[in-house]
Amino acid sequence: MTSLAVLVDGSSCAWGAYAEKMSERPGQEKTVLASVMRAIVAFSNVHLSLAQSNQLLLYAYANGITKKLLYDSAHSENPDSSACIIEGLRSALRQNSSSGDTRKCAVLAATLATSLCQIRKASMKTTKTSKEAQATGQKGRVVIISFLPDFGSQHSLLMNLFFSAHKHDISIDVVSLGGPSALLQQAADITAGVFEAIQRVDELPRVLMTRCLPVSIRTDTTLSTVDYRAACVCHETLVSNGWTCSVCLAVLCAFQPICPSCGAVFKIAALPRRKRKRPTEVGAAPSPKA
Ligand SMILES: [Zn+2]
Ligand SMILES: [Zn+2]
Repeated sequence: MTSLAVLVDGSSCAWGAYAEKMSERPGQEKTVLASVMRAIVAFSNVHLSLAQSNQLLLYAYANGITKKLLYDSAHSENPDSSACIIEGLRSALRQNSSSGDTRKCAVLAATLATSLCQIRKASMKTTKTSKEAQATGQKGRVVIISFLPDFGSQHSLLMNLFFSAHKHDISIDVVSLGGPSALLQQAADITAGVFEAIQRVDELPRVLMTRCLPVSIRTDTTLSTVDYRAACVCHETLVSNGWTCSVCLAVLCAFQPICPSCGAVFKIAALPRRKRKRPTEVGAAPSPKA
C-alpha cells in the first residue's frame, strides 16, 4: 500500500489571479480553473487505479477552511472519487473566499504536518510492506500543487517538516503554478522528490502523470541547481550571510537586539578592556621627547 497526500493551495485569490493570468481572452477564466481541477482529479484517479490498496488523501491549505482533509479514499463511503474531489475543492475555495483572507503567502506548515502524520499512521498500520516500498524504501508521498511561491514566516517550520519527511522516507514532489519557489525546491531536493514550475495550464496533467508518479515508474528525478539560501524572518528575503538566533535558529539579515521570531533578548557583551603595555626593563620605555 502506498499513501499519497495531494496538497492543493486553497487560496481563492491565488486561483482567481492564476485564471486571470492564464486566460487568453476575457471570460475564459472558468476554462482555466476547470483544467486545473480536471488534472488534479485525473492524477488522483491514476494513483488509486495503480493498486487496489493505494490510499489517497486530498488536502487544501489556506486560511478559513474548516475541514482541510477534503477526501480520504480509505474512509470515504462514496465510491465516486472524482465527484468527491471536485466537491471538496469547490467547498474549500468557497470557504476561503468568504473568509476575507487576502494574504499573499501560503499557509502550508500545519496541513503538511497533518498529512505527514496521516501517511506515517497508514504506513504503520500495514503489517507487510508493499513491493514498491521495498523497492524504493519509501513509505509515502506528498504532492504539493502550489499557486503562491511565498510562505511568509513559515520558513523554519517548513524546513523542519522537510527534514522530518526525509527521516520517515516520505518524498515531497512539487508542481508550482505560481513560478519558482526556493523553499519548495529545497523540499524536493531534501526528500528526493521532484520540483516542476510550469508556465502553461495544459502542461499540468502531463507533469503530474510523468513526474509525480511513484519513483519506480517515473523519469529522472535529479534537480540541477537548488538555491539553498535561507529567508530572513524580518523581510522574508533570501540572504547569503546573516545572523542566526541562538534560541530558535531564526535567520536575520541584520543584527537586532530582540529576536522577532521567539522574543529572545541578546545581550551585547562588553568589550574586554585593553591592557596597557608595560614598558620592559631594558630600554623599551619610550623616551620623552626633548
Ligand atoms: Zn531581513
Ligand atoms: Zn529566536
